[in-house]
Amino acid sequence: MLRRNLVVFSQSRRAWLAATLVTVCLGAGAWVRFGPIDPSLLDLDAATSTIVTDRNGVPLYEALSGDGTRSTRLEAADLPPALVAAATAAEDRRFWRHPGVDPLAIARAAVHNVLAGRIIEGGSTITQQVAKMLLERRHRAGPGGAAPRRRGVGAKVEEAILALRLEHRFTKREILAHYLNLAAFGNQLAGAVHASRAYFGCDAALLTPAQAAFLAGLPQRPSVFNPYRRPGKAVARQRVILRRMEAAGALTPEEAARAADERLVFTRDPAPFLAPHFVEMVLASLEGPRPPRIRTTLDAALQADIAGIIRSHRPALERHGAANVAVVVLDNARGGWLAWEGSGGYFDAEHGGAINGPRTPRQPGSALKPFTYALAFEEGVTPASVLPDVPSHFPTAEPGVLYSPRNYDGRYRGPLLARRALAGSENVPAVALAARVGAPRVLRFLTRAGFSTLAQTASYYGLGITLGNAEVRLDEMVAAYAALARGGRWIEPTWMPTDLRAAGKREERRLVAPRTAFWVTDILADPRAREFIFGRGGSLEFPFPVAVKTGTSQAYHDNWTIGYTRDVTVGVWVGNFDRRPLRDSSGVTGAGPVFHSAMLAAVRRVRSAIPLSETEPIVARPDGLEARHVCALSGMPAGRWCPSRQREWLAAGDDEPCTWHHPAGDGVAVAWPAEYRQWAREAGLLDERQAAHATLATAGRREAPQRAGSRDELPPAPIAIASPPDGATYLIDPTLRREFQSLPLRAVTPAPVRVEWTIDGKVVGNASSDAPVSWPLAPGVHRITARDPRGRVAASTITVR
Ligand SMILES: [Zn+2]
Repeated sequence: MLRRNLVVFSQSRRAWLAATLVTVCLGAGAWVRFGPIDPSLLDLDAATSTIVTDRNGVPLYEALSGDGTRSTRLEAADLPPALVAAATAAEDRRFWRHPGVDPLAIARAAVHNVLAGRIIEGGSTITQQVAKMLLERRHRAGPGGAAPRRRGVGAKVEEAILALRLEHRFTKREILAHYLNLAAFGNQLAGAVHASRAYFGCDAALLTPAQAAFLAGLPQRPSVFNPYRRPGKAVARQRVILRRMEAAGALTPEEAARAADERLVFTRDPAPFLAPHFVEMVLASLEGPRPPRIRTTLDAALQADIAGIIRSHRPALERHGAANVAVVVLDNARGGWLAWEGSGGYFDAEHGGAINGPRTPRQPGSALKPFTYALAFEEGVTPASVLPDVPSHFPTAEPGVLYSPRNYDGRYRGPLLARRALAGSENVPAVALAARVGAPRVLRFLTRAGFSTLAQTASYYGLGITLGNAEVRLDEMVAAYAALARGGRWIEPTWMPTDLRAAGKREERRLVAPRTAFWVTDILADPRAREFIFGRGGSLEFPFPVAVKTGTSQAYHDNWTIGYTRDVTVGVWVGNFDRRPLRDSSGVTGAGPVFHSAMLAAVRRVRSAIPLSETEPIVARPDGLEARHVCALSGMPAGRWCPSRQREWLAAGDDEPCTWHHPAGDGVAVAWPAEYRQWAREAGLLDERQAAHATLATAGRREAPQRAGSRDELPPAPIAIASPPDGATYLIDPTLRREFQSLPLRAVTPAPVRVEWTIDGKVVGNASSDAPVSWPLAPGVHRITARDPRGRVAASTITVR
């Protein structure tokens, strides 16, 4: 009885459970299928993508709908048949039959994924993809939209439910229209209408089956199938889709064969967008919801000018082996970008055209030197300070390792005033100056000047940082130069036209005193000061004042020219993203001509005309500086015996006049300070008796400290090696071409004799002992011998790294 009751109870309970289950399932099914759709999801006006404009509202991209007459959306009633067939063949073969989700496709995808051991297929229907795109769009527009929408089972279920509801609410053709309007086709193109205009220059209704199949393949993996970057992959995908269209009966075998034979021609020229790298950067920097329209600081007309300039210089750049060029123009007053060219050819896939060049760190060569001078000017050095351009060895962070910088052309120019040393871009005086202020302070100063890429320690870079052995970005370089143009005030550059400084959202700081900015600018804008190296009348000269500096990196990989007027700062980098070296290209021949044209275009644009009679200095001369005449050799106030003098803007003072020049016989003689005597002797500017004395003194005091103890008092050795000193270590300078990295071999003998030089047992030279032999540095440990005619030998062992 009890058992029977139990059975009856359990039977009725089972029926009750079943009824409940059916009700719940029906209810859940109905909720899933007929439930509400959040109306904000379907606000299709929000689907139109963001338009990025220049400072005057001219669209930089999305220009396609600019005429306002052509629709940018496909309507369900007039979907192009070729595109319909291609999209369903590519994405969802049972689209017309399934209820929104396709269990068969999911099962097949699961099998494929298990076999492959990874996710290779999603099994999503077109409807599910529409659901996903709508949900992602709403997520982007909401708070926290900067972070990607969460993925996983929950998201999949949410998409599937929305897909089922969409199928209830819309016709299949309407869903397909949503899909084609929302899908991403690569290169910032949303929607089939934009994509067909951008890639094929035609209306979506006019696409051939071959073109339609091509487009339909893109949304699956827009970056992999990018026609500009990987045309081969994109075409392989197109072939697969054409075969499926044939299998589905959308194409006859003949039509399919003809489509496969059709040669796809991609339009590149009517740029789907101007300043693509800039637009990408702007969109990537946005947080939260994207407004429908974003105004930037860019000047579309100047940007178009720069694009034209690059096109016209392209053959010359190719002759120098340069495939990439980056150009930026900054508005000095407000710190906004006026032009931004990232690579010289965004769609040049072969040469990494999509890389944003101005933000890619590269070696700047000499282009950083002005900042070492600026720092030294802050600390008492002036344009009239004399700097040593003589063979020099500087200690490095490693004990016993010396750094021996060399000049670009391998020559030394003796005493150089800071003006000429900076304007002529000599390496040795710049390193001497960096040694004076110290590498850690140079590094800190560069960081304050906005260079964000100098992540290593000062001892890692060493003094070579002033010669550009650390990689920096062009946009940061231009912002740092603009600080000099502004009289020493650094402002964080921006693409936003509204002034964010008021809101405290933008960094701003004083980098150097106005006097320092004036001095550096006055030197960089002085064509006579750089003439001894750069000549006159080239691409660095303009009919109005321009402060300009060039740079060339290690082994000619990078070539820079940066310059400014009061209004604008222009920076040009020429090189190859893949680091292929350039050919026969220095700052003046590679980036220089592009810089020249870009500067003229920028000034014409900002000032409405080229200011031909402009004489006002770029940076106003601060109070407290007066024109003073200094000796061109010593930099001291010019005395009556100084043969050559020049004007400098210096603080008033009553310093002692030049002590170098003094009367001798019927002429003028120079009393060379000790550090210049050796150089003066080799340059033939010092008489022989003085020279022999100086050489011995130098050999004893400066280059062989381990043999200290005044050599002057000892009988001279029959032969000794003054250079290189025994036990020295040399670092090969990474910023210079190998052919300029040579070591002078110099022997000291009581009287000039022939000296035979050997290195590692091989004769490398035979010359008089008063003329040094030059030997190109090669890594390794080397034994160097010098032999006089009587067979007496001196030896020295060095290490080159
Ligand atoms: Zn003098």
